[in-house]
Amino acid sequence: MSFFWPKVETLRVCSICYKGFPDSKFFLNSNKRPQAACKTCYMARAKAWKHANKERVRELQRNARQAAKAKRNTDSLPSTTTNP
Ligand SMILES: [Zn+2]
Repeated sequence: MSFFWPKVETLRVCSICYKGFPDSKFFLNSNKRPQAACKTCYMARAKAWKHANKERVRELQRNARQAAKAKRNTDSLPSTTTNP
């Protein structure tokens, strides 16, 4: 059987396109576990989601910008601020 099914890597089946890919074709989530969808499907889904949620994307981007700005401001505050 091995001549017919060469042993390369264990393939993970994408939950969207149902094709088998090695783990390198999957993004890892925060737990360092591969996502259920392959990179191609994940990107396609993310793109579709962004397209369908333009307002939400804008909001998230604005929040991220403001958070970064707030962090910069607190970082640059002088250390001699009055404590309560
Ligand atoms: Zn896929």
